[in-house]
Amino acid sequence: MKDTFTHQGMRKRLVENLKKKGIASQNVLDAIGAVPRHLFMDSGFIHHAYEDKAFPIAADQTISQPYTVARQTELLSVKKGDKILEIGTGSGYQAAVLLEIGVTLFTIERQNELFKKTNLFLPKLGYKPKRMIFGDGYIGLEEEAPFDGIIVTAGAPYVPNPLLAQLKIGGKLVIPVGDKTQIMTVFTRKSETEFEKEEYGEFRFVPLLEDKN
Ligand code: SAH
Repeated sequence: MKDTFTHQGMRKRLVENLKKKGIASQNVLDAIGAVPRHLFMDSGFIHHAYEDKAFPIAADQTISQPYTVARQTELLSVKKGDKILEIGTGSGYQAAVLLEIGVTLFTIERQNELFKKTNLFLPKLGYKPKRMIFGDGYIGLEEEAPFDGIIVTAGAPYVPNPLLAQLKIGGKLVIPVGDKTQIMTVFTRKSETEFEKEEYGEFRFVPLLEDKN
């Protein structure tokens, strides 16, 4: 597993590209600049690793587009030390970006093949989530709640209530909501009972699947 000057150069250009597309937070840009995205992709796609595109990974899933990862991370307003829950570990790329920023990360994946693969792979690169869980993201992770932030990396047909309930006051849930296409939606918990909702445009994700599927 190598990270060469060529890869580093390509990453620099990707970071410039993301800046032009409107990503402003420096800690997010630095993290994208640091994570070797080519190592998260099947070898056939390595040359495309630093294009701003989504790509197929194992089990019919995708590694999200860098712009989407950057935008969701920015909307989560994370800082070092925050306790974050990710739904949809997938390749582990989004997890690595969050860990690069220095969060304490819990991440859930429902697809066993991907779970096993990423569970072995991430620590090899030095990225260590506090826990990687094989389970259903719709129910969140009650025993570790509350979280400073929850990020959902698959398209949710509706907003699962347990995720809102597991936020700290002031915490944020960043979730793409919709069926065929999704609206990036941010809920900020204002009090025990109040949430503020903001919307940030259209995205396209693979679906957040319910267990019965
Ligand atoms: N964050 C990932 C994106 C992966 S795509 C990355 O950076 O590569 C979305 C992932 O969500 C897929 O791996 C899919 O298996 C997973 N997923 C779908 N439904 C889920 C659910 N109910 N609970 C947890 N993970 C789920």
